[in-house]
Amino acid sequence: MLPTGSVPEPTLFPGGEPPTGSLITHGPRDRPRIALTFDADMTRAVYAALRTGRARTWYDPSIVDELRATHTPATIFLTGLWTQSYPDVVRSMAADPLFEIANHSVDHAAWKLPCFRLTPVASSAAKRAEVRDAAAEIQSVSGISPRYFRFPGGCAGPNDVKLVASEGEQPVGWDATSGDAFQSDPRAVVANVLRQTQPGSIIVMHLMGPPNAPATSRALVQILPRLRQRGFQFVTLSMLVDANPSGPPSSTAVPSEAP
Ligand SMILES: [Zn+2]
Repeated sequence: MLPTGSVPEPTLFPGGEPPTGSLITHGPRDRPRIALTFDADMTRAVYAALRTGRARTWYDPSIVDELRATHTPATIFLTGLWTQSYPDVVRSMAADPLFEIANHSVDHAAWKLPCFRLTPVASSAAKRAEVRDAAAEIQSVSGISPRYFRFPGGCAGPNDVKLVASEGEQPVGWDATSGDAFQSDPRAVVANVLRQTQPGSIIVMHLMGPPNAPATSRALVQILPRLRQRGFQFVTLSMLVDANPSGPPSSTAVPSEAP
């Protein structure tokens, strides 16, 4: 899931203001806070395979277990089809203050080609439906209206970014890609994350587990302590990007696990 290079320059999302027409790819660089994000992809083909028993699962619960055991906040980008397939998991995450729920389209179709051989979205109207219908599904299952939207595969043009903002959601990308999709060696995932993470980073990983993201969970148990050793503090996406850039310096930042 590599950035396409066709998106606008990243900018910060000012707290409390409407979504901007720009893609957010990171938070403030002047404090050691970072946001771990997990995408819960699901295409229509995978949805059909699950329904007919040709696929067994598209969720790795050990990822969420590890985040909870280590009190690590994370932001979860849900597709509508994943939400429909795992409503109890979605409700459980939505009820847990560690987790923030966000929008990853209905069916993980491509907004701009080429995009990892994903099926393209047909029209602007269909793109609006990708945003609205996923938000409606997430809302009906969890009671939460997502504020942030991530393009499947990160594939989007400037007009797509504006379209999402006009639907009232803030488009969000990343600046640190774990490369966990179809990667069986956790050492590669760990190395990718450690190499790219810097203050303000948004790290992208996946929630599906094997066969799609077989090493994510094993990588995560190494990534969390090693980034903490480097002095990074994990926060949700809204905590990262809504921060007032002229606020207190990092040394006086409030811990995420305040009592
Ligand atoms: Zn995705």
